[in-house]
Amino acid sequence: MSFRASENPLFSWHADPSELAAAGTPLLGDSEHRTSFEGLLVLRIGVLALQGAVREHLNMLAECGVEAQAVKWSQELDGLDGLIVPGGESTTIGKLMVRYGFHEAIPAAHAGGMAIYGTCAGLIILAKKITEGAQPLLGLLDVEARRNAFGRQVASFEADLALPILGDIPFKGVFIRAPWVERALAEDVEVLATHNGHIVAVRQGRLLASAFHPELTDDGRMHEYFLEKVVASARRTV
Ligand code: GLN
Repeated sequence: MSFRASENPLFSWHADPSELAAAGTPLLGDSEHRTSFEGLLVLRIGVLALQGAVREHLNMLAECGVEAQAVKWSQELDGLDGLIVPGGESTTIGKLMVRYGFHEAIPAAHAGGMAIYGTCAGLIILAKKITEGAQPLLGLLDVEARRNAFGRQVASFEADLALPILGDIPFKGVFIRAPWVERALAEDVEVLATHNGHIVAVRQGRLLASAFHPELTDDGRMHEYFLEKVVASARRTV
């Protein structure tokens, strides 16, 4: 459930824990110590476990050195630094979200500093609006999303994506009845990747969203980016 950054090579910016210990710095401290210096950062990450690809995200996070928790009840959001809203069926996730109070609890936790990464259906759930129909959304991410945007003919496919935030090596995007971002609704929405001219990954502050499923590949770079650049940096600034 907790993650000690000092044990993960991802977090290259931290100080050596033995140096901290030698300096008399507590290694696993209370919440004040968690944020008081860069040398130690414990990230608590959850995966919303109402429906969809929950296990795959937990496995990928484990590969990144994070023992994340499946979140089934809104109380389990307490103290989380980051939450992943997985792919699945956004109408089902949305209905269950309302039934279990997540539609209020997630925005509240986000306002308190929690970062969120939505993949595929999770992107839709995070969006402010969708191009067609009505369904429960969190409305946190200032984009308009189009569901099943790539059409029935090419419902599922893989594509090499240029994702400059991850370096020069392309990222294999796995698209399954994926949405795209029709348009950004605010200036601070950063477009991270496009496919055939359509926006498929964005970031807005503590929110990250991708139309594709990085948890279905063996490439952990999107999860690492979320942990290191979105969750950890939010943790240091909130
Ligand atoms: N088509 C689904 C929806 O609209 C999303 C599919 C997915 O998450 N892979 O909710």
